Amino acid sequence: MKFNSRYPSLNSKLYHEQMPIPLEGAKAGHFNTALANELQWSEQDKTDWVEICSGQKTFPEFHPLAMVYAGHQFGQWAGQLGDGRGLLIAQILDQNNKTIDLHLKGAGSTPYSRMGDGRAVLRSVIREYLAGHALNALGVPSSNAVGFTSSAQGVQREKLELGAMMLRTSDCHIRLGHFEWINQYQPELLTEFTQKCIEWHYPECLETENPILAFASKVIQNTAVMIAKWQLVGFAHGVMNTDNLNITGSTLDFGPYGFMERFRPSWINNHSDYNGRYTYQNQPSIGHWNLWNWLNNLIPLAPIETKEQFKKDLADCLEHFEPTFLEHYTHGLCQKMGLPSFHKDSFDCAMAFLRILQSEQLDYTDSFIRLQNKHYEAIKDDCLDRRQFESFLARYKNIRKNQDTDALDAEMRTANPIYILRNHMAQKAIEAAERNDFSEVDRLFKLLSEPFTKQPELEKAEDLAPLPSDVPEVMVSCSS
Ligand code: AMP
Ligand code: MG
Repeated sequence: MKFNSRYPSLNSKLYHEQMPIPLEGAKAGHFNTALANELQWSEQDKTDWVEICSGQKTFPEFHPLAMVYAGHQFGQWAGQLGDGRGLLIAQILDQNNKTIDLHLKGAGSTPYSRMGDGRAVLRSVIREYLAGHALNALGVPSSNAVGFTSSAQGVQREKLELGAMMLRTSDCHIRLGHFEWINQYQPELLTEFTQKCIEWHYPECLETENPILAFASKVIQNTAVMIAKWQLVGFAHGVMNTDNLNITGSTLDFGPYGFMERFRPSWINNHSDYNGRYTYQNQPSIGHWNLWNWLNNLIPLAPIETKEQFKKDLADCLEHFEPTFLEHYTHGLCQKMGLPSFHKDSFDCAMAFLRILQSEQLDYTDSFIRLQNKHYEAIKDDCLDRRQFESFLARYKNIRKNQDTDALDAEMRTANPIYILRNHMAQKAIEAAERNDFSEVDRLFKLLSEPFTKQPELEKAEDLAPLPSDVPEVMVSCSS
């Protein structure tokens, strides 16, 4: 590994150094060799991956640390939070010379654990491991993981579960909530911290007239693009608190997430979200809310005489959130539909298709694949209101008439995954892993590596469709 240890150069009030506390009886779960190679792991580190991914081996180049941050949880100020069960154990350079954090999740309690035990359970580790991998393969910016380990140690949740650890990778673990913590508890650190964030993550902003405004604009833009990509693949993060969004717009901390199956925009995948704040359809507006809340933390950076103007400038930056989101979402949706994004009727036609999916409770992913494969009759057969589908299809064909349909079809094939991680797929892999059988994790890992490519030798029929509507959904909650 090539180290680029930069977080420890920050003021030490921003973190707490401590070693991981290994679990009893650590054992191999799964290892992502391709990612380890991208991260330039040595042969020795690859051989030692179980020790590294279980907190038994750390690196002399980096003292593991827990970050402190704060946040708004479910819209309410939650005060100080921080890495309560994860440690940054290294910052290394990948093969493109980009700095990547290695964060060991489940590494034991820290001063920021509050009432928690500092542990993660095998169930939630597998869910995060597979989803991070799936999102990366789908082209959605996201954390990923080099590997995870299981253990023989019980960890109490609603029931006794197995403890596990996962070595997460991300281009950034600095959350919107870092700024909230600084403003609330150590405001004198704000200037230097912001400067470092810009240097590390947006160095191009240093060349502009006002680097802080340029930085704010970039964070807003990247977050809007990330959320547009979530919407397009049907991903619901589940817990979009300000401590779970980072400043680079790569998906982070998606415990109770879900990939939507039957198209239901108001679907609540996180059963701890009693008011439905973080439903699929709310994600863009919650992203906006989080950013608005975050921008308030930049105001103290302006000198007193220009503060009012600076507030207006920040508000102007936020004005770009919605158009950026819409531009990416509209373009991506047209690609999924095989419609030209410049055509004035394409977006309306796409909305008509989504309304059919919603009213007929059709599967989001599979319906786009059927459209792509021109299996129009198959979609119609699943509709109660067939006239509605026929009128959509006439409109759809009319827009595609006289277009370069080969090019549009080729775009569809890059935009419509065949495989997503359905809750029931993850659940089967978890149940097998809890019996010490990781073969299903491995099968899903391989399948989700190539979500746009048909893999008959790997797929199972149940990967392609939701469970029948009379089968109870897998319950996913914040407990992890
Ligand atoms: P989350 O919303 O799951 O990302 O977690 C919110 C906060 O609770 C973070 O500060 C976590 O580090 C902390 N946390 C969650 N689970 C635990 C746990 N089992 N032990 C200690 N801290 C935890
Ligand atoms: Mg979190």
